[in-house]
Amino acid sequence: MKKAQSITEFVKEVKRGSISIVEHTEKIIEEAEKSNSQFHHFNLIAKKSALLQAKEIDAGIKTGQHKGKLLGVPISVKDCICVKDFESRAGSKILSGYLPLFDATVIAKAKKEGAIIIGKTAQDEFGFGTFSNNVGVDFEKPLNPLNPKRCCGGSSGGSAGFTSLTSLTHASIGQSTGGSIAAPASFCGVAGLTPTYGLVSRFGLIDYANSLDKIGTIGKTISDAALLLEVISGYDMNDSTSLKAEAQNLGNVKHLNDFRIGVVKEFFKGCEEKVQKECMNAINKLEEEGATVEEISLPLNAKYGIAAYYLASTTEASTNLARFCGMRYGLHDKLEGDFNEYFSKVRSQGFGIEAKRRILLGTFARMSGFRDAYYLKAMKVRTKLIKEFRQAFETVDVLVNPTMPIIAPTFGEIKKLSPLEQYAMDLCTVPANLAGLPHASVKVGEHKGMPVGLMITADHLQENKMVQAAKAVEELK
Ligand code: GLN
Repeated sequence: MKKAQSITEFVKEVKRGSISIVEHTEKIIEEAEKSNSQFHHFNLIAKKSALLQAKEIDAGIKTGQHKGKLLGVPISVKDCICVKDFESRAGSKILSGYLPLFDATVIAKAKKEGAIIIGKTAQDEFGFGTFSNNVGVDFEKPLNPLNPKRCCGGSSGGSAGFTSLTSLTHASIGQSTGGSIAAPASFCGVAGLTPTYGLVSRFGLIDYANSLDKIGTIGKTISDAALLLEVISGYDMNDSTSLKAEAQNLGNVKHLNDFRIGVVKEFFKGCEEKVQKECMNAINKLEEEGATVEEISLPLNAKYGIAAYYLASTTEASTNLARFCGMRYGLHDKLEGDFNEYFSKVRSQGFGIEAKRRILLGTFARMSGFRDAYYLKAMKVRTKLIKEFRQAFETVDVLVNPTMPIIAPTFGEIKKLSPLEQYAMDLCTVPANLAGLPHASVKVGEHKGMPVGLMITADHLQENKMVQAAKAVEELK
């Protein structure tokens, strides 16, 4: 990952007047445009509007009008999050031409603090994937900036890829249903933060699975990601699942004495040996710095997490995607035949293979006659998995495990995996997402020149502890 000035330092200098926001924005847009032909991190680069925003802010600073926490900071946004007047497609052809009439709450909040929205980042179609290889029809796969033969991870692949690639101050707003912030952060060697479910408003998010979706952040460092998370969190009356809470002063506590870390035994087992080693190395160092380390067992989550997640998520996804029928948003065709014929024609063209697979799987799981055996059973299992986490947090502050069982695979390696084998790669990330728990991924080492990420999970609304532990890891030498 290329290093850059931190957001805090950058904003300080901006306020002092020693950085021209217009110049900085021009530079990052140029970098994005140039790198995009090779790496495909962006589905849209918003040159005109970003420069316009930059000019307004520069002018405002001169007259003392602008004060925000993200003053002039370029922010990229995962394609599934609506930005007013930016084509927002969630990486799918079926949403071609859809221009939202409003900003998602997170975008409005970021803009209010002076952020400059530079574009929409590449992703697996609707978030359906772990490697950003399941991009929609006519989209390009984002490539890992550390090795373009390898994937960025998914589904927020473009967000993590560009955050790693750029040499300028920048952070990204991503989204996770079952690990889509942690996985690409791990594969690209950047920091990813996924908040407690409900802490960040989902208003303006193009849903994958409503009971699981969370908007979160990706930065070059935990501090950058945490600052952006503070800005976008908070109650929103437009989202009925929004919590009356906000993330503030994240990671304020500095020392690790009395900090209790639980090492999740089962999640280590399924990982490549070198990945395990790099993670254990970091954990041992945290222990040397004063943390208490103990082994924690989450047998139910390890055994049933993947199955419960893929039933719950595909069930919700199949109902969410029903609204894309070629009449309301995005892709249209010539109105011919009856509704079923028209609906099938547009959807056959507009959805990619993985989206179709998930519609079939989800529809099957909630069909009358099968609903009790699959969907409802998955919901009961989900409750048990949450209870298992609850118990673990009675004795530890955070849980740790490798974020991903492998380093970023090559596209050739991914091709050899069956869909089920691909789903199995989510072993460590899916449980915390099913339980709505906040989690971070931070780089702890390397294998074959590629980053290895450690995942840190905290109890509900304990973002502070998650950030504190992640910062301690980042500072290890
Ligand atoms: N890999 C998981 C899936 O395919 C998670 C993706 C996500 O968080 N959007 O569903």
